[in-house]
Amino acid sequence: MRDKHCFVDTDKCMGCGVCASACAKSALSLVRAPEKGTPLEIRKLLESA
Ligand code: SF4
Repeated sequence: MRDKHCFVDTDKCMGCGVCASACAKSALSLVRAPEKGTPLEIRKLLESA
């Protein structure tokens, strides 16, 4: 968060979608970038932990 605004570092984003699904204001949406490979399935990883 910077100056009360969220931002996404697109170089570090893994495309998991957790931020978009957690945002109560629906301020984010996820656009897939196939050139970055298959996103991590964070929710599945957390469920299996
Ligand atoms: S999609 Fe996942 S990795 Fe990318 S900014 Fe959102 S929570 Fe972080």
